[in-house]
Amino acid sequence: MTSLHSDGGVAAESDRRLTLPNEDALLRLYYDGGRLPSPAGGFLVVLGVRPVDDGSGSLLLECTSSSLRYKISVPKATRSERKQVRTLIDEGGDPKCPRHEGEILVRIRHDFACSSCGVRYAKAK
Ligand SMILES: [Zn+2]
Repeated sequence: MTSLHSDGGVAAESDRRLTLPNEDALLRLYYDGGRLPSPAGGFLVVLGVRPVDDGSGSLLLECTSSSLRYKISVPKATRSERKQVRTLIDEGGDPKCPRHEGEILVRIRHDFACSSCGVRYAKAK
């Protein structure tokens, strides 16, 4: 289980983080629950998930073999994803992450966000 920090958390922001060349492919693996290969060999483990102010998310990853840290930006919710989540809420069900199978969205202030990708998918009423 990863922790979901509030918007105000900037303490870890000074960590040196590298970006990955193949973010899109890694994100697809991450959504599917797969292991993420590290460019240095070994795997990337998720240290933290942060919601970003514009509604997107941010993942902090660490390589198991080199201990280098990386950051991946998770794209914001699309119109159809927001609609999908809205429909679930309107039907009285638990809002689920459209990208993560079975992941229930958590409430952050006035929004519902996924604790695995940090993305905000709907306004909470
Ligand atoms: Zn998610």
